[in-house]
Amino acid sequence: MKLIRCERGHYYDSQQHSRCPSCGVPGLDAGNSDAQMQAAPVDAMVTQVRGQAGVADIGVTVAMVRKKIGIDPVVGWLVCIEGPEKGRDYRIRSERNGIGRGADMAICINGDEAISRENHAYISFNPRKASFRIAPGDGRGMTYLNGEEVDVPMPLLAYDRIELGQTHLLFVPLCGEQFNWENQGE
Ligand SMILES: [Zn+2]
Repeated sequence: MKLIRCERGHYYDSQQHSRCPSCGVPGLDAGNSDAQMQAAPVDAMVTQVRGQAGVADIGVTVAMVRKKIGIDPVVGWLVCIEGPEKGRDYRIRSERNGIGRGADMAICINGDEAISRENHAYISFNPRKASFRIAPGDGRGMTYLNGEEVDVPMPLLAYDRIELGQTHLLFVPLCGEQFNWENQGE
């Protein structure tokens, strides 16, 4: 079981579902035994995963930040420096961010057919350590970090270069030693 959290805050097993079954495209998951999960409120989902090491705790940390400042704040950016969307930036938010061509991806890169529709790679932000990582996705497409293949999760540092498909991205952090949303207003 490999729990991940979708953009809207549902937890699901990424080894069983390529996408969030709660948000999934209507009709696509018809006949799936998890269909009843589509109606399950987020709180119930969180309760189900409590006990899984750390997952719910991190969710609670993020929920607290959201409650405190009333938003799901940006924690960093990817900037396209080469490829069809050259010049565009993409927001990174807390926890896991799937990168893909699909419109429902947390980080949606349009126009690059060499990028998987869903979860070509992941960028994650750990709110406890205020650190970033990049991890390989589920598909065939490779991801490179500063020219090296990403085959396991790797730390992501300021101005690292990420390549996927025809697209080159520069990583620009907001949160870290200099700034953290959780310390604001104290
Ligand atoms: Zn969802």
